[in-house]
Amino acid sequence: MTAYNGYVTEETIEGAEDGPLAGRTVAVKDNISTEGVRTTCGSAMLSDYVPPYDATVVERLKDAGATIPGKTNMDEFGMGTTTETSAFGPVENPVAEGRVPGGSSGGSAAVVAAGDADLALGSDTGGSIRCPAAFCGVVGIKPTYGLVSRYGLVAYANSLEQIGPIAPTVEDAAELLDVIAGPDEHDATTQEAPEADGSYAAAADGDVDGLSIGVPTELLDGADDAVVETFWDAMADLEAQGASYHEVDLPSVEHAVEAYYVIAMSEASSNLARFDGVRYGLSGSEASGGSGDEQRESAGESGGYDGNWNESFANAREEGFGEEVKRRILLGTYALSAGYHDKYYKKAQDARAWVKQDFDEALDDADVLASPTMPVPPMQRGESLDDPLTMYLADANTTPVNLANLPAISVPAGETGDGLPVGLQLVGPAFGEREIIRAGSALA
Ligand code: GLN
Repeated sequence: MTAYNGYVTEETIEGAEDGPLAGRTVAVKDNISTEGVRTTCGSAMLSDYVPPYDATVVERLKDAGATIPGKTNMDEFGMGTTTETSAFGPVENPVAEGRVPGGSSGGSAAVVAAGDADLALGSDTGGSIRCPAAFCGVVGIKPTYGLVSRYGLVAYANSLEQIGPIAPTVEDAAELLDVIAGPDEHDATTQEAPEADGSYAAAADGDVDGLSIGVPTELLDGADDAVVETFWDAMADLEAQGASYHEVDLPSVEHAVEAYYVIAMSEASSNLARFDGVRYGLSGSEASGGSGDEQRESAGESGGYDGNWNESFANAREEGFGEEVKRRILLGTYALSAGYHDKYYKKAQDARAWVKQDFDEALDDADVLASPTMPVPPMQRGESLDDPLTMYLADANTTPVNLANLPAISVPAGETGDGLPVGLQLVGPAFGEREIIRAGSALA
């Protein structure tokens, strides 16, 4: 057990003897399936779930010679920004005492920051790789939608999420991306990235001479002064190395958080329907105190369905899901319901299209866009649990990128006066991972 609670399960999975990651440890977020090793998603619902197969990314890690030291703690089903909603207890920030590590991949960022794994995989639906990377002072990449297979990733909001690397340096993160990227016959949304020279790791050459950076003013407006100051210091550093920057407008991002949460919760309400205690998850009869077998048998005796299944499903879900997950399933179900679908879900999809268009226009005149990754430094532990809306707003700078399906990296920009880590986010055009890696490597 790490003192900061970074792992849910510490169990070593050995990879091949040779390969680009031989001799390196890669921790894996606990919503990514590992054959024979339990995969809990940070939920009591799956506390005993042992997947019968490996996610494609895990297969690729093993083929590349990596050793997986364990499965990392996370916000339940990826729903959170602080890694405090895990059924296995919160994760502490190993580099900022008393503060959250960010979320939802907080365990993955924490084990890398603490040196308990060389590298880690996270998943990012609305910032869950970039936020913890920023809060723990490490590097995180959210790939273009479709670059990395989601086969074996337990879905939260599948139209938004991607698996990606967390690492101490940009080059390390890029090496891990080289291993996991590429089409997969098990995930029809994956595609071959357009031809480009060299590996992702080779792009980490720190050469920003002539790079044009757009700075969306909307993403600075709501940010803390100390964060903005650190951001501009890092921009000055890039400028001194030959990059130039100009302001750009992304008017639609004002609505991005709302649109993101409507879409994410709607997809979650559908994806999490499978956790009913029969197909997956705690048995509802266990949850209500009786033995699952007894209840199943008595149902069988009365000819199968005897009217109790609903109750059994409800018990399983009441017992197995935490408060944040329940809130989102309820809101998502509401947003998709007949009569409200057009008012919420359809509007959110329109906003998503608008956000995409704004990014495309801004990226016509800039190679990459830069902003603070998070508008605030790492919060105090416990601070945001009672105030979900404030927590959702902390995702203002990361969620637009998922809505637009674009790649983004968070690199350490420096620290606030109080010594708290600040991340700088660079967003690139679709499949422009090399551009953001190159630019990020000039800083970290
Ligand atoms: N904080 C966001 C949410 O709770 C993002 C989570 C994620 O990327 N998995 O939905």
